[in-house]
Amino acid sequence: MNNEISLTIKSEYVTKYKDGYPLILKETLESTQRLSQEGLVLKLLDNKNKFIAKAYYGLQNKGIGWILSLQEDEKIDLDFFIAKIQKAIESREVFYKDASTNAFRVFNGEGDGIGGLSIDYFNGYYMITWYSIGIFEFRDVIVQALKSCVDYKGVYQKKRFDTKGMYLGEDDDFVCGAKAPEPLIVQENGVNFAIYLDDGAMVGVFLDQKDVRKAIRDKYANAKSVLNTFSYTGAFSVYAALGGAKKTTSVDLAKRSLAKTKEQFEVNEIDSTKQEIIVDDVFDYFKYAVRKRFLFDMVVLDPPSFARSKKRTFSASKDYVKLLKEAIQITNKNGLIVASTNAANFSMFTFRDFIKKAFNDLKLKYKVEESFSLPKDFKVNPKFQEGNYLKVVFIRKL
Ligand code: SAH
Repeated sequence: MNNEISLTIKSEYVTKYKDGYPLILKETLESTQRLSQEGLVLKLLDNKNKFIAKAYYGLQNKGIGWILSLQEDEKIDLDFFIAKIQKAIESREVFYKDASTNAFRVFNGEGDGIGGLSIDYFNGYYMITWYSIGIFEFRDVIVQALKSCVDYKGVYQKKRFDTKGMYLGEDDDFVCGAKAPEPLIVQENGVNFAIYLDDGAMVGVFLDQKDVRKAIRDKYANAKSVLNTFSYTGAFSVYAALGGAKKTTSVDLAKRSLAKTKEQFEVNEIDSTKQEIIVDDVFDYFKYAVRKRFLFDMVVLDPPSFARSKKRTFSASKDYVKLLKEAIQITNKNGLIVASTNAANFSMFTFRDFIKKAFNDLKLKYKVEESFSLPKDFKVNPKFQEGNYLKVVFIRKL
C-alpha cells in the first residue's frame, strides 16, 4: 500500500476541508517539506493534531492532491476503491440500461469521491484516465477494484499528466482483457461513433456534450445550414445531419479531422460527400466566409479553452467575445449560435457577460433559448463548483 504521512493544515482552512472541499491547495498546508513523492496518503490534521481528512498527494494544474475521506479509520485500500467505484456504477444504472446509449462516464473524479480519476464506458470496454502521477501510483489497486466491480471486455487507460520520464516500458494504453476493435463502434442516443481507444490522447468523442448534441438533432437542426467550428471528429455535424440539416460545414485545424469526420458520417450512413469538411484555422475561415458573404442558420462554437497554433493563440477567457463577434457576422437573422466552452476558469455568469458584450458591441439583439452544463453521468461535487466546467448557451440572433 502507499505510504502515509501526517500534515498540518493552517487553522484558517480547517473548516473548509471539514465542510467537504475536496481539493488540497498548497497554501493551506503549514509545511510541504514531507511531500517527498506523489501517491503518498496524507493524514491531514489541525494544529492540535486532531484529524480532519485523508487525502492523496498528486500534482495537477490546480492543487496538489485530493481529499479521499473524512473518516479517521478509513483505510485507503482495495475495499475503499471498490466501495467508491461500486457506488458510482450504481448511480449510473439508467445509463447502463439505456438501449440507445452505450458510451458514458462511469466515474467522474471528485464528483464520485476521488479527484484526478475518471472512468468511461465504451460498449463493454472501460477507459481509465489518470490526471496525475499521484493517482497513477494507485493504479494496481484501482484497476483491481474496477475489475471486481464490472463485467468488462477490456480495460484501457490514458495518462493525462507529464510522466517526467517515469513508467518507461509500461504498455501505454491497453491494460487488460481483450483488445477493442479499431474502430470500436459505440452508440449515444442511437447515433454511432467510431472511436479508437488506443490512438493518441483522445478517443474521438467528448462524452460531456451528449445532451447538447441531442438538442441540436431533436430541436434545432431541421432544414438548417450548419457551421460547426473546432469540429474535431464532427460529432455536432453528425447530429445536425441526422436532425435534418440542409447541409453541414465542419472546420478544424487538425489534418486528421477530415478523415475522422468522414468516418463519423459514414458509420451513420450519411453520405459524407454531401457535407463540407474543411481543414483550416477557424479565424481564417471566418474571414473567408465574410468575404464570400456566407450566412449560416446555425453556428456551433466549441473551441478548446486554450490553443496555440502557428499563427495565433486562443484563450477562451480572453478571446471568446471576439470569437462570438466573428460568428454573429456570418449567422442569419433569427439564426442560432451554439456557444460552448469547457474553460474552468470562468463561470456561466461570466460567459453570459461575454455573450452580452459581443452583441452589444455589434449593436445587435439576441435571446437565449436554453443553456446546458454537464450531463448527469458527469457527476459534480456540490462543494466544488469549479468541477462543473461545461457551459453551453443556445443564442438566437434577433
Ligand atoms: N467540438 C468538438 C470538440 C472540439 S476539441 C466535438 O464536439 O467533438 C477542439 C478542436 O479545436 C480540436 O480538434 C483542435 O484541432 C481544434 N482547433 C484548435 N484551434 C483551432 C483553430 N484555431 N482553428 C480550427 N480548429 C482549431
